[in-house]
Amino acid sequence: MKHYDYIILGTGPAGYKLAKLIAKTGKSLLAVEGGLFGGTCPNVGCEPKIFLHGTIAAALATQQLVGKGIAEPAKIDWSQLMKTKKARFDSWPDETRAIYENMCDVEVGYGKFVGPHTIEVNGKQYQGDKIIIATGHRPHRLTLPGHELTHDSSDVLSLSELPKRTVVIGAGFVGIELATFLAAAGSEVTILVRSDRILRGFYQKYAQELITKMEQRGIKIIFFTETQKLEQIDNELILTTNRDEEIPTDYVIDASGRIPNADKLNLESAGIEYDRKGITVDDHLMTTASDVYAIGDITNQKLPKLTTVAEYEAGYLFDYLEKGKSEAFVAPVIGTTAFAYPELAQVGHIPEKDDSNFEIVEHDLSGGSLYAGMNEQTKLTLVFNHGHQLVGASEIGAQAADDINYLIPVIGLKITGDEWRKKLVPIYPALADKIGGLL
Ligand SMILES: Cc1cc2nc3c(=O)[nH]c(=O)nc-3n(C[C@H](O)[C@H](O)[C@H](O)COP(=O)(O)OP(=O)(O)OC[C@H]3O[C@@H](n4cnc5c(N)ncnc54)[C@H](O)[C@@H]3O)c2cc1C
Repeated sequence: MKHYDYIILGTGPAGYKLAKLIAKTGKSLLAVEGGLFGGTCPNVGCEPKIFLHGTIAAALATQQLVGKGIAEPAKIDWSQLMKTKKARFDSWPDETRAIYENMCDVEVGYGKFVGPHTIEVNGKQYQGDKIIIATGHRPHRLTLPGHELTHDSSDVLSLSELPKRTVVIGAGFVGIELATFLAAAGSEVTILVRSDRILRGFYQKYAQELITKMEQRGIKIIFFTETQKLEQIDNELILTTNRDEEIPTDYVIDASGRIPNADKLNLESAGIEYDRKGITVDDHLMTTASDVYAIGDITNQKLPKLTTVAEYEAGYLFDYLEKGKSEAFVAPVIGTTAFAYPELAQVGHIPEKDDSNFEIVEHDLSGGSLYAGMNEQTKLTLVFNHGHQLVGASEIGAQAADDINYLIPVIGLKITGDEWRKKLVPIYPALADKIGGLL
């Protein structure tokens, strides 16, 4: 049986970052990938998503400027957009695989444990002194009658023809982003929401404002609704809700969530504990089996499931295993965004019902030269602790992700208003220039 210093299961952002660092040390490494090399983010997640968002946001911005210097709103050509996206992204898995083959041994197939330090892939067994599980998430699929007629986010990111009508089941960030894209391109979109809120975890005041904006663009959002069944009847799909309403449509997206790729790893054979949210790790990201670690989406830590976090964990683990840094893993300050239109972005503490310990200040950033001509309201809510240190920020606006990125170091490095004003002269005009005053 071949023996390695390291075996990494999964080549997504977590596995890729760690593999690149380990390869430089000269230690022996086997990388195992069962799906697309590079994982979710560059193939069926953030990268193609943000590529589409660029075009969609540009087109939607023109709608707001009609009569203010723009004569006609831009019209999205979905088929052309998807061809452009395909030309850019289709070769990524092969290119990533080639990078791997240059830096370590590679096994293509789904790996599973057959013992505490033994992995089996394609009937062959390998031993690793250290094994890292970085197998990520996959879309959750509803099990309702007719579920085989639904599509997941990966399908949508390769959808060559725009459906006339679309139903999106679920209103997490994936569902809201996809609904935004398809509606902007001209599909009649209905979102079915199980509860009374979209974008759970985001500042709900701004989520409500986003709902209004989406509805103004013709997106229908139906709350307290679950899907009972889906049927193909003649040339259309009929979706029946739990209230016996029938919604005729052409395309249904199951955006009901994402689940960890833990179930096929035969974790029991290695004594690795996991639950429905993922694999349990300690404060050095070690699983319940000695020298077996888990990083990225696959862990059940209460952290956002993001590429940024996956890569951060890979960096932490490398320092711990190879550089002798023994500190426990501490979650960094993490920014999150829903790339809808407008965007919703936030970091740190978001206002909640009982906020007596905080000072909360809202700024209306619309108007002025910076956002001139855009009807879109841009609002920024800042949360300060009693020492007047910024501890949270949420924004709704066309550039919310970039704006919030300015504030992440202010929170993470505990920069005060005085320090900012004394030491920094940001580019003007941009939000960063206003920060000194806002702090
Ligand atoms: C539509 C969408 C949009 C997103 N947008 C953003 C965004 O804007 N910003 C952001 O930061 N994050 C975003 N994400 C989340 C981001 O893609 C993930 O957080 C990130 O990819 C997690 O990296 P990972 O390495 O943990 O897992 P993954 O990228 O999922 O990689 C895991 C890899 O492991 C492989 N694998 C699974 N089981 C096995 C096995 N048994 N053996 C071998 N290989 C296996 C899989 O095939 C996969 O390639 C988005 C996700 C989606 C779906």
